[in-house]
Amino acid sequence: MRSYFIETWGCQMNHHDSERLEGQLLRHGLEPARDADRADLVLLNTCSVRDRPVRKIASRIGELARCTPPPMVGVCGCVAEQEGQALLDRSPLVRFVLGPGQIGRLGEALRAVARGDRALLVGFDADSGSDRREVSRRSPTRGMITVIEGCDEFCTFCIVPYTRGRERSRPMGEVLDEVNGLVAGGMREVELLGQTINSYRCPTTGADFAALLDAVAEVAGLDRIRYVTSHPRHFDDRLIEVLARRPAVSRYLHLPVQAGSNCVLRRMHRRYTREEFLALVSRIRSAVPDINLSTDVIVGFPGETDEDFVATLDLIERVRFGQVFGFAFSPRPGTPAARYPDQVPEAVRKERLQRLFELTDRITLELNRSLVGTLSRVLIDGGSRRDPNVWQGRGEDNRVVNFPGNGGAGIGDVVEVRIVRAAAHSLIGEVETSAPPRLPVLPPA
Ligand code: SF4
Repeated sequence: MRSYFIETWGCQMNHHDSERLEGQLLRHGLEPARDADRADLVLLNTCSVRDRPVRKIASRIGELARCTPPPMVGVCGCVAEQEGQALLDRSPLVRFVLGPGQIGRLGEALRAVARGDRALLVGFDADSGSDRREVSRRSPTRGMITVIEGCDEFCTFCIVPYTRGRERSRPMGEVLDEVNGLVAGGMREVELLGQTINSYRCPTTGADFAALLDAVAEVAGLDRIRYVTSHPRHFDDRLIEVLARRPAVSRYLHLPVQAGSNCVLRRMHRRYTREEFLALVSRIRSAVPDINLSTDVIVGFPGETDEDFVATLDLIERVRFGQVFGFAFSPRPGTPAARYPDQVPEAVRKERLQRLFELTDRITLELNRSLVGTLSRVLIDGGSRRDPNVWQGRGEDNRVVNFPGNGGAGIGDVVEVRIVRAAAHSLIGEVETSAPPRLPVLPPA
């Protein structure tokens, strides 16, 4: 077994897990293959939050079985945790199953395969053995760092607490060491990851997420900090104060609301009301007026009436999110909402999703247009995929900005870009100047 290929589905957590898997594969002497057809080992790092994950895996394994010779397959991620032995039973190609809590034991799985055995490694007790220095970073500018794993919220539609386990925070000192290491290696930006990141509690000192964010913002040389995902019910005023005071903390906040109707929110077990959510947005905007908010919305949740759906549209119109990730409800086996008797017909779910997208596309474009003429401080991520003469990066509000390269700047540089045009999901600009260094942060008065 000499070469590998990793396919990653799903969220940022999964993408970071793939970086950790790749780091271990490289240490074990494997080399990356150009595509799955040429690899000896294909890792499927799966997601079970949406779609029809088991069917998707079965069809992907079927495709891989037709390669000559067929590769060995390792199934990782949430579906690995959920399906376990059933995945090994499904196909002889599947040589091991590795749950998200067992990422650090990939070496054990590889050794089992080398002996001709198969391995089933699931559960949440042993990932402490994993070495987080074995991360193969894919972005030259932004390093992802997990600060809390799992989730204790048990929203009735969500599989995550079952596939990623209960919340486990990493010690703050360990996170800061990782941030310092990334900055020393040239990273300008870090993205802190957690399913409910603002539930973070340092297991040694009890420090909360506001304290962690504040400490990360102290790291010299770090230009930008992003963090996902925040749960509205844990977003407190201490955290808002850090956002307002620390210029390195991104002017972007992903704050999933899921629905705008109190009845639906209650049945989702979100534990906040629409009024509380709107009040939170108002407090955040008072402290950080230029913040760019994005959200997740599920339409067609069981029992959602037309009035409930209109309440969701109304909330979106009031908040004016820069981006909305909308999904039609799809039942996840084993979750309470999958057993609710009042499922909404598929045609209604689809029609509501279409109406949601019409509204959110309009608002996104209006907000983008309102930025024409303003300056954006853009961290260059790379070249545009469509045109090699165009750079692409993100502003401090996380909006994607494309602009012609002027020869002087490159990946990892921060430039000031004047926005000249708005597109549906990005901005087009022209470079004004290389951005000046940040002013030192003064302590609050
Ligand atoms: S907060 Fe709710 S939606 Fe988010 S991961 Fe936890 S259970 Fe799932």
